[in-house]
Amino acid sequence: MMKRLSWIAIAAGALVFNAAAEPPDTKLLLEGGGSAPASFTDDRADERARMVEVQIAGRGVSDERVLEAMHKVPRHAFVPDEQKPGAYGDRPLPIGHGQTISQPYIVGFMSEELDVERGDRVLEVGTGSGYQAAVLAAMGVEVVSIEIIGALARRAAAQLERLDFGNVTVIHGDGYYGYPEKGPYDAIIVTAAAEHVPPPLVEQLKPKRRMVIPVGRAGWTQNLLRVEKTEDGEARSRNLMAVVFVPLTGDH
Ligand code: SAM
Repeated sequence: MMKRLSWIAIAAGALVFNAAAEPPDTKLLLEGGGSAPASFTDDRADERARMVEVQIAGRGVSDERVLEAMHKVPRHAFVPDEQKPGAYGDRPLPIGHGQTISQPYIVGFMSEELDVERGDRVLEVGTGSGYQAAVLAAMGVEVVSIEIIGALARRAAAQLERLDFGNVTVIHGDGYYGYPEKGPYDAIIVTAAAEHVPPPLVEQLKPKRRMVIPVGRAGWTQNLLRVEKTEDGEARSRNLMAVVFVPLTGDH
């Protein structure tokens, strides 16, 4: 069960920018601007229904938009062929390059925690397979997603395009620095563990909105934080639960 822990206030003034650190080159691979697919496949719909009922709703995720999106998006389309039989299992799966697609429950939980509305623009750091981006896009939000591994970014962009997700933009680059060109964002989701909350991401989040991010050391459990930005730019964070994510890499 989820363990509620304390609020931690992170004073914005304590977040020191390294003026010398320049965002590395980013490359736009898929330009969104359209809308979510009008129709989804029925293929393996029974397995998805069971996944949503048992793993997602059964563990307390109650936002109907999240449940509906996870019911619609074919998770099996985002995993390598050898993982397809187990695509609706209750676990993360390898997607190559030492990376993973997150456990379905974590995708549902983080999507709910973002508290987004249809039409919002969300930044995702860590595109991976593209599945989390697809779930958010199916909820009617516009997604800008950044992935540091070029091969994964290209594969996810191609798959999202094939499935007609016109409301996702995929960028190859280092998400530590965000993507200010499309900001500020209504919500930010980080799907790799950072050692601290990246100041550029706080900067690119709109006031009174949320970021959900795992923070802690690689190889250990991390804290999944919900970071809320106040009107005066301060970031307040609350620990939601213990998680294990692959590390946020890059030269920051
Ligand atoms: N959201 C993904 C999905 O639905 O499949 C799962 C993401 S996986 C747990 C974490 C991803 O973050 C990996 O693909 C990894 O390459 C990426 N990553 C790690 N550091 C990054 C960085 N600095 N910028 C962008 N992506 C990064």
